[in-house]
Amino acid sequence: MTAASLELAAEGGRTLHSAIDADSPLSIQGMTVSYGEKPAVFSVDAAFPRESMAAIIGPNGAGKSTLLKAVLGIIPTLSGKVSVFGEPVEKARRRIAYVPQRASVDWDFPTRVIDVVMMGLYRELGLLHFETRRHRDMACDCLERVGMANFAHRQIGQLSGGQQQRVFLARALAQDADLYLLDEPFAGVDATTEKAIIHVLKGLKEENRTVVCVHHDLATVTEYFDRVLLINVRKVADGPVDTTFTAENLQTTYGGRLATAQIDQLQLSLA
Ligand code: ADP
Ligand code: MG
Repeated sequence: MTAASLELAAEGGRTLHSAIDADSPLSIQGMTVSYGEKPAVFSVDAAFPRESMAAIIGPNGAGKSTLLKAVLGIIPTLSGKVSVFGEPVEKARRRIAYVPQRASVDWDFPTRVIDVVMMGLYRELGLLHFETRRHRDMACDCLERVGMANFAHRQIGQLSGGQQQRVFLARALAQDADLYLLDEPFAGVDATTEKAIIHVLKGLKEENRTVVCVHHDLATVTEYFDRVLLINVRKVADGPVDTTFTAENLQTTYGGRLATAQIDQLQLSLA
């Protein structure tokens, strides 16, 4: 055990993840978040290994978006510790790219697609926002990767929801992060866009990056992801898809909201 994990064990007094987790891309310990009296996320522990693609699964209102926002420090936590590559999240912020749940931005003023992607290059551009040809090429390359190169000079507000989603993914790619956090990237996109996005995300994993997605479609979990975290305010389970995405865990996570017939369709074995 490393000193860091011993310290955690002393703090939490609970069984610890393995020592490898000390510098895992994302490790969450004892996280509780509340907007009012009832917690939206309660005492969640989870760790995500390198070069993995993980889904966060749970019913509506389970606290999935809240968990991601709390990880990023966008909303305050009542308790819990988050570390990103072994560092406090504030120190590791530049290694994280976040694509929020769609439709949270209203584009009142005209902004071109290329400029949205350039926002992802803010670290490269520096304080003076000195854009060069190279930066524009980098932004175009990210648009190319999501199949949106032909839309570079369109206004973002004029694109469909699925097209906007691809542009936000391009902006995240421009950040060149090590940990990608995405909140329902496939919600409301057409089949072509879904394929394009999954292709890009799998590419990120192959480049040794870590991808964590809130995901709502149980039918594609085993095809898209290698790990899963099931939550319903509390954590139900997390681990490799093969051993964790089981009928029993789904039943615990969704309760009566998921019919046995649906579970049968997922062709899972009862664990
Ligand atoms: P999920 O993403 O799993 O659907 P959320 O994290 O969005 O769930 O929400 C978890 C719970 O917290 C829900 O009951 C939701 O109504 C509540 N909630 C979410 N955001 C807020 C907020 N800004 N203020 C008050 N309650 C909120
Ligand atoms: Mg959500």
